[in-house]
Amino acid sequence: MDGKHMLMIPGPTPVPEGVLLAQAKHPIGHRSSEFGELISEVNSNLKWLHQTESDVLTLTASGTGAMEAAIINFLSPGDRVLCGCNGKFGDRWAEMSEAFGLQVERVSAEWGQSLDPDAFGALLDADTNRTIKAVIVTHSETSTGVLNDLEAINRYVKNHGRCLIIVDAVTSVGAIDIPIDEWELDVVASGSQKGYMIPPGLGFVAVGPKAWDAYKTATIPKFYFDLAPYRKSAAKDSTPFTPPINLMYGLQAALQMMRAEGLSNIFARHERVTRAAREAVKAMGLPLFAPDEAASRAVTAVEPATVEAERVRSVMKKQFDIALAGGQNQLKGRIFRIGHLGFVSDRDLLTCIAALEATLHELGHENMTPGVGVAAATRVFSMS
Ligand SMILES: *Cc1c(COP(=O)(O)O)cnc(C)c1O
Repeated sequence: MDGKHMLMIPGPTPVPEGVLLAQAKHPIGHRSSEFGELISEVNSNLKWLHQTESDVLTLTASGTGAMEAAIINFLSPGDRVLCGCNGKFGDRWAEMSEAFGLQVERVSAEWGQSLDPDAFGALLDADTNRTIKAVIVTHSETSTGVLNDLEAINRYVKNHGRCLIIVDAVTSVGAIDIPIDEWELDVVASGSQKGYMIPPGLGFVAVGPKAWDAYKTATIPKFYFDLAPYRKSAAKDSTPFTPPINLMYGLQAALQMMRAEGLSNIFARHERVTRAAREAVKAMGLPLFAPDEAASRAVTAVEPATVEAERVRSVMKKQFDIALAGGQNQLKGRIFRIGHLGFVSDRDLLTCIAALEATLHELGHENMTPGVGVAAATRVFSMS
């Protein structure tokens, strides 16, 4: 049967009908006053979503474009930076920083474990000459389902006083509380196809005052991703280049939905669905890849021992038309990942768990009474 596809991957995520319909409108001119009104509303709602009074700038790019803008606007070749590496996206920060000639020191942890904030603390405290220019970390490491302790890492950054904190919050914004102004996060990058409930194509960069100071002396060459023109245009409810008008309609609708739901409800929903996913997986006798205390609210990674991860994905797809994500790099074939961020409800999670039970049953996974996963998820939902 066509048209029943269900996305349970950590991006692209499901898109509400209201957003899809908003995007189906005919485009209007981006220099028109009507579009200016849309930009004004969207920019103020983006600040609300990011919990910041500073700029949140929108780029026509995937999340990686936003990450690139977060590096090239505030740093110079040769700058010493610390990159947190405990998964594919942390590694991407390090590779990208090296591509732009930064002097990278990797602060690493095993894939599946969270970064040790004290490891950053030791390097930052030892840096008495203040040569470290930035600490660059991924908040929710989507490749492993691990949430890094950004607040603790940031505390060391604040003690250091001089260096910037640059954050990949691609699977955090709209999923877990990341109070940018309260924590004084300098640069925060995200992308549309994750917590924003709209299709891929937009990147977002939140930039605080300390980062704008650093901008003045940063010398990495830039043009399309030079954030100053974006800031200048935003002040006039405009954009420096042609934005993807129809995605902007979608963004407007999605942000209205988020405002109606409220930040604390959004975070509570992601927390609840995450807990339900994890309790269900445990009840089904499958090992979780990330520890409870460092669980991403966007994605749950499972490392099955008795069945092949790729076969689970293939049966889920063929029999139930549910897309789960696989493992990346060295985790390929070892784990599968259940994405549960953005437009994901308790019902979606229950459906996914029920299908997963049927799949495990078909694949001969032993020691599982059918129904235990759904029962465990139900217990979480009825408690909250
Ligand atoms: C999805 C994602 C990105 C961005 O990937 P794009 O494909 O460029 O949108 C970056 N970091 C994390 C943690 C992600 O989940």
